[in-house]
Amino acid sequence: MTQPQDLAAAFARQKEFFRAGHTRPLAFREQMLRLLKTVIEKEEEAITRALAEDFGKPAFETYATEIAILLSEIKFILKYLRQWVAPKKVKSSFLNFPSTDAIYAEPYGVALVIGAWNYPFQLTLSPVIGAIAAGCCAILKPSEMTPATSQLIARMVQEHFPPEYLTVAQGGPEVSQALLDLPFDKMFFTGSTAVGKIVAQAAAKHLTPVTLELGGKSPCLVDATADLAITAKRIVWGKFINAGQTCVAPDYILVQENVAPQLLEQLAQAITQFYGPTPAQSPDFARIINQRHFQRLKGLLTGTQIYAGGETDESTFYIAPTLLQNVSWQDPIMQEEIFGPLLPVLTYSSLAQAIEMVNAQPKPLALYFFSKDRDAQEQVLTQTSSGGACINDTVSHLANPHLPFGGVGPSGNGNYHGKASFDAFSHQKSVLKKPSNPDIPLRYPPYAQKLTWM
Ligand code: NAD
Repeated sequence: MTQPQDLAAAFARQKEFFRAGHTRPLAFREQMLRLLKTVIEKEEEAITRALAEDFGKPAFETYATEIAILLSEIKFILKYLRQWVAPKKVKSSFLNFPSTDAIYAEPYGVALVIGAWNYPFQLTLSPVIGAIAAGCCAILKPSEMTPATSQLIARMVQEHFPPEYLTVAQGGPEVSQALLDLPFDKMFFTGSTAVGKIVAQAAAKHLTPVTLELGGKSPCLVDATADLAITAKRIVWGKFINAGQTCVAPDYILVQENVAPQLLEQLAQAITQFYGPTPAQSPDFARIINQRHFQRLKGLLTGTQIYAGGETDESTFYIAPTLLQNVSWQDPIMQEEIFGPLLPVLTYSSLAQAIEMVNAQPKPLALYFFSKDRDAQEQVLTQTSSGGACINDTVSHLANPHLPFGGVGPSGNGNYHGKASFDAFSHQKSVLKKPSNPDIPLRYPPYAQKLTWM
């Protein structure tokens, strides 16, 4: 299904299915969530194989970041869904007396979910969990850059769900563009900031509500009070998982200058500890997605000062976990989101200066700060803006379903995970209910004399 007329027909069928009310009952939503959970569990091996085929993703990373995270999300949502679906009573206003007022979470309708390639299974299906929970239908467009995973998602959905409820459109930007022309009731996009702008423009044409989960350069600050050995491990883990192709990976380090040499040493040690002396032979280190990105990353290495790593192998799209020192803000590597296993280390002298440097950049998706100084922690959290943040850790905030996940400004708009996923696909409908009597006449014309009462 890639031709515009097929996509329009699939959309029309979903509209009809949604209007008939099939997706609204709580029992149906719960049943579909359970079914999705069973299908993911059943396909665990196939998912692992597809990701290994697409970019050599280690089986453990696939389980932790593509499978387990979805299963726990479904479990979490099933636990609370009944509560979220129920209308929320609110206080009524004296001016409307007598009335009872409530907020109804209403499914938007037919949703479009466009996924990115870097966690291709999870990033396409996680929003769909929100869509199902909210009572929506959805057309999924996984990334064309991970064909094995996209094919698998298409097969799984086709085998277990009716197309008028969930269906998959495979293909690249041309398929996205054809989908974006349709008057969806909700759009949910994960990908780059540049394409996010295209999606936002398309959504504006039909005034479709849109969630944009985008990227950016997420800074990682380290001050002199931090435990450098632990800090290094947590940074190396968050940076090099998925070979650095993670939207919330620490993009660069900004370290207090007097501890920079020690931090570099600890980072290099952590790399060796995790991936051995020859990371190319490690079963725990993924490959770059394709030749274009391999060449882009290799280009970013040109003219840099390599502290550790730097090896590349075009035949397998391998780029070693690499630390770069003496990097300046003007270097090409600081002009774009790196999205690969290259970690530039920059320095600062005072925290105020570090905050100023961060604030001079577009608002990032995540910000990390390693420090034992609580005042400094609050200073960073309150004087910078980012989609999310961790103190003394990286990446982990996205694994708590109680925390909404999303960007701000150029790193995104809206959020999801847990209740936020349900909300992302629900309209909050304000409802006022009044009995016919009493009917207080104060508000009706003629108004003569009425102001004097007020
Ligand atoms: P991308 O923007 O190139 O592609 C994302 C999706 O958009 C794909 O399905 C693709 O087919 C489609 N697309 C590409 N060009 C298009 C166009 N011109 N018109 C319409 N659709 C188009 O992003 P990517 O390379 O797949 O992913 C990497 C980016 O995504 C990084 O910036 C990363 O930070 C970001 N990302 C963000 C999150 C998040 O949750 N915030 C998660 C993962 C990745």
